[in-house]
Amino acid sequence: ALTIGIVGLPNVGKSTMFNALTKNNVLAANYPFATIEPNVGVVPLPDDRLARLAEIHGSEKILPATVSFVDIAGIVRGASEGEGLGNKFLANIREADAICQVVRAFEDGDVVHVDGKVSPESDIETIHTELILADLQTLEKAVPRLEKESRIKKESKPLLDNALVAQKVLEEGTTLYAVKDDTKVGLDWAATTSLGLLTTKPFIYVFNLDEDQLADAELQASLRALVTPADSVFLNAKLEMDLMEMDAAEAMELLESFGATESGISQLARTGFHTLGLQTYLTAGPKESRAWTIGQGWTAPQAAGVIHTDFQRGFIKAEIVSFDDLDAAGSMASAKAAGKVRMEGKEYVMSDGDVVEFRFNV
Ligand code: GDP
Repeated sequence: ALTIGIVGLPNVGKSTMFNALTKNNVLAANYPFATIEPNVGVVPLPDDRLARLAEIHGSEKILPATVSFVDIAGIVRGASEGEGLGNKFLANIREADAICQVVRAFEDGDVVHVDGKVSPESDIETIHTELILADLQTLEKAVPRLEKESRIKKESKPLLDNALVAQKVLEEGTTLYAVKDDTKVGLDWAATTSLGLLTTKPFIYVFNLDEDQLADAELQASLRALVTPADSVFLNAKLEMDLMEMDAAEAMELLESFGATESGISQLARTGFHTLGLQTYLTAGPKESRAWTIGQGWTAPQAAGVIHTDFQRGFIKAEIVSFDDLDAAGSMASAKAAGKVRMEGKEYVMSDGDVVEFRFNV
């Protein structure tokens, strides 16, 4: 499964947020025999459609899609110099599919800041700098190799040119992900990601706010501006911990008192899922209503393969109705009668919220 690595300076609220994440561990609830690693949190992707599907089909159980987070401890200044913990930190980031930086915005005299003052901007820069330095080291080896290659093979020349553009971006102190879609920079993204660099990974920023700041739209806009085009999530890590200890109704009441409709952890799960380029399709029956994770642009046979490789190999066709049509019709029979249920073949590209039954040969 794809994972999101959580990083941040010491004392910004990483552990507090991670504890809130793991309190919500769906693996523990649904797969009692799964091995749960202490630094991995698997959280449900909130999806209201599943309850409605379960109602329509009389399902006994609901199984949401999940998003996996890994707590990557140990960022220190100088991590890129590859000493001890720093090395392990970079190796862990290399394995993650996206990077989620927790940034402290809350003020609390009792919680020391490593730099003596709370500054989201400089915290972000500190972590970026370590990742950028690590990438520049990688390029120091890659560029001479590409130079050599392009002397022999013409096709390698564009790769070299692209690597040099990436190097220039990094030397200016900018992460590559931040300029992914910037036509003025003009990076070839496939070529850039093939270099195995850290700052091409998608970034998400979680700003850990205190309770007053949760209502401060102006502050949040200015924090968001620090990191666009990357996604931002605003939450209060301590409050998230409290929410996880309440029952659903109590939690909702508390959230509403802050003008929110869902927890920060749920927002983070949703944002993470989106940042990873994922979507879901749905299956439903008397046993369970379930969301399955696929990539954007996947075809029906690929989607079937997520349930079982036999489903992909023996794929014949898929019976599909969009969730909205099924919801409006109220039952599969009515949806069929209304002509809303389609038969799709091997070439069909899945849409988010397709409710599917696969036909296959074994
Ligand atoms: P980490 O070092 O980044 O993992 O930070 P911790 O989660 O251990 O938090 C460091 C300290 O900050 C702890 O005493 C937390 O209780 C406190 N803390 C975490 N989140 C918040 C917050 O949102 N507001 C306030 N006031 N304190 C927080």
